[in-house]
Amino acid sequence: MLTITDPSDMRVWSNRAASTGRTIGFVPTMGALHEGHLALIAEAAERCDAVVVSIFVNPLQFNETTDFDSYPRPIDDDIAVCSAAGVSAVYAPTARAMYPEGFQTRVVPGALADRMEGPGRPGHFEGVVTVVAKLFGAVRPDAAIFGQKDFQQLAIVTAMAADLDMGIEIVGHPIVREPDGLAMSSRNVRLTPTQRSAAVCVPRSLDAAISAAGHVDATAGSVTGAAAQVIAAEPLARLEYSTVFDADTLEEFNSDDSLRQSGADRVLRIATAVWFDDVRLIDNRPLAE
Ligand code: AMP
Repeated sequence: MLTITDPSDMRVWSNRAASTGRTIGFVPTMGALHEGHLALIAEAAERCDAVVVSIFVNPLQFNETTDFDSYPRPIDDDIAVCSAAGVSAVYAPTARAMYPEGFQTRVVPGALADRMEGPGRPGHFEGVVTVVAKLFGAVRPDAAIFGQKDFQQLAIVTAMAADLDMGIEIVGHPIVREPDGLAMSSRNVRLTPTQRSAAVCVPRSLDAAISAAGHVDATAGSVTGAAAQVIAAEPLARLEYSTVFDADTLEEFNSDDSLRQSGADRVLRIATAVWFDDVRLIDNRPLAE
């Protein structure tokens, strides 16, 4: 397995792979790899001949410098994990290689970025699509696999690839969870053992929401209210939001909106963001499974 740190070296590797007729499946990550990332790698390997994993903690997409500084970076372990998983190449560019002096171009996402996570995290999705466009330019994949854990990110990247005629298939992979239901995340290692036990309230709040959605007179408010109650019962947790949204348009429902009248062909999901001290966890699930 090769580790490549320079965008032009990455492009040379990819062009060579393509010239021998091999397709490239790409998994962009920020490292601190866990089973969720490994599931994406396995999906890429099923779809394509060669798998490239990028590891880059992208400063453009962080709103808080403390979150950026404290983001785990176990690069040697990550490289060993990729090698054991049969990855062909790890692309781990330096921040200087990605954003050299004079760097000035950004990709601007559309309306999908103005909803849900967008307003609370100004510039976040612009940072995400800018780095993903750069990674796509260096890796030149046939398919790229993204987790449904970051559901809005998946929708925005799918729109970018289509809108900018990138010719890259964007594939969404289901959320991989710990045995107690907590969605796997690189940020979970930052939880203290007590916070980690308390964090089970996040998936449980989504269970409660899904039960509430089964009532005939369910509204978006009754569903998010059921989720909020579970979080409120956990003293270590602070709810930032829970919201019911349309999985295709990301349009959020108002409290009074009835779920039954929303239209049978719409797929609805609930998403939530919950804080444990300075660690922010996100999760989402379809309301009908
Ligand atoms: P990250 O390293 O957190 O930026 O995540 C890299 C990719 O892995 C993104 O597409 C995430 O959505 C995906 N991912 C992270 N955690 C999970 C998970 N628990 N299940 C599925 N995909 C995940």
